[in-house]
Amino acid sequence: MTAPAAWDGRDDDRLAELRVRLAAVRRRIDAATAGAGRQEAPPELIVVTKFHSAGDVARLAALGVADVGENRDQEAADKAARLAELRLRWHFIGQLQSNKAKSVVKYAHAVHSVDRAQLVTALAKAVVTEQGRTGREDLECFIQVSLDDDADGHRGGAVPAAVPELGELLATAAGLRLAGVMAVAPLGGSPDAAFEKLAGISAGLRAEYPQATAISAGMSQDLEAAIRFGATHLRIGADILGPRPAVG
Ligand SMILES: *Cc1c(COP(=O)(O)O)cnc(C)c1O
Repeated sequence: MTAPAAWDGRDDDRLAELRVRLAAVRRRIDAATAGAGRQEAPPELIVVTKFHSAGDVARLAALGVADVGENRDQEAADKAARLAELRLRWHFIGQLQSNKAKSVVKYAHAVHSVDRAQLVTALAKAVVTEQGRTGREDLECFIQVSLDDDADGHRGGAVPAAVPELGELLATAAGLRLAGVMAVAPLGGSPDAAFEKLAGISAGLRAEYPQATAISAGMSQDLEAAIRFGATHLRIGADILGPRPAVG
């Protein structure tokens, strides 16, 4: 199978733009990491490439990016297939229907949006099948927690009270690895308050499952606050890639 090259490897204007933007975000991360006294344990950067082209993902890989995030299965599956040679780690960060589990486990290193028991069951079944076929590694799973007080779920996630049960399911399911928690700061609220709450939820989970050390938090607007409150995985899109293009 030969796919058209996503990017010809030339040092074009877009590569130059991405280089500058990526460097600026890395400087912000370094400054916030130093400010929080976390130089020994800096957060990992996941570049969120949703709505941007496979060519942009290839350029980012050339600039040293190893981890990319996507929120729609079809788009992620297409890019992962075209860019398989680059050996990127694909992080699924969007709401996930159980019937997409089979597809997602074909390319995803991690799913950051595990928010219900039924999805755990679907992912476990799909990973075990995939492991039988390809010997893939266990799937890293983050419990997405809603930090909205009125949990109408518009930004997704399980209510905090559901975290212990999801933790137990993930910790015991074959093929899955309980990585930790994930959240998006509620719109309009203080990111500090949200990420402080998430840190507390993470501490509660770790008391039960010491391996669940990961905190996936922090986007373009609030990465500094997330780092202050212990984020281990940042998910940054717009400030690196620019405004998301209209879907086409
Ligand atoms: C789009 C998205 C991001 C990246 O947000 P930016 O504001 O573009 O940095 C992070 N997390 C999730 C869940 C997203 O959907």
